[in-house]
Amino acid sequence: MLCEMCGKEVPSTARARIEGSVLSLCPDCARFGQLLDPVPAAPAPGRSAGTRSNAVAGTRPPLRTRRLEERDLYTEIGEMELAPDWPKRVRLAREARAWTPEELGKKLNEKKSVVLKIEAGSFRPPDALVRKIEQLLKVRLRAEPETNPTA
Ligand SMILES: [Zn+2]
Repeated sequence: MLCEMCGKEVPSTARARIEGSVLSLCPDCARFGQLLDPVPAAPAPGRSAGTRSNAVAGTRPPLRTRRLEERDLYTEIGEMELAPDWPKRVRLAREARAWTPEELGKKLNEKKSVVLKIEAGSFRPPDALVRKIEQLLKVRLRAEPETNPTA
């Protein structure tokens, strides 16, 4: 092979960069340049796919059932013990006055839906509202036996 710099015939040339151009040079001339061939392009240690963690931690929100919330409402808000049939007592007392749930709601400063929930027993009114209902409808919702002034 011919050295591209000095034209000498050599068994093998080495590619070297000299002044911007890459030439095939004999070992003598190659010393003046930056050798390219003998430097084996060391492959970078494989940092390819495969090492990625596939642990997708699913964060599930705590499940709180609606039933539990309603039960909490019963036990936490209620202080006075109410008669077992207090929803029925509310409804009967209201119907005795021929009030619609809407009308009763207005008198209680509550929504009609609240009245309906109370009468359905799905909403235990706070003690203050219990007293209001009792006064308004002249009905007893509490569990303690009614002092009956039988004259
Ligand atoms: Zn040469």
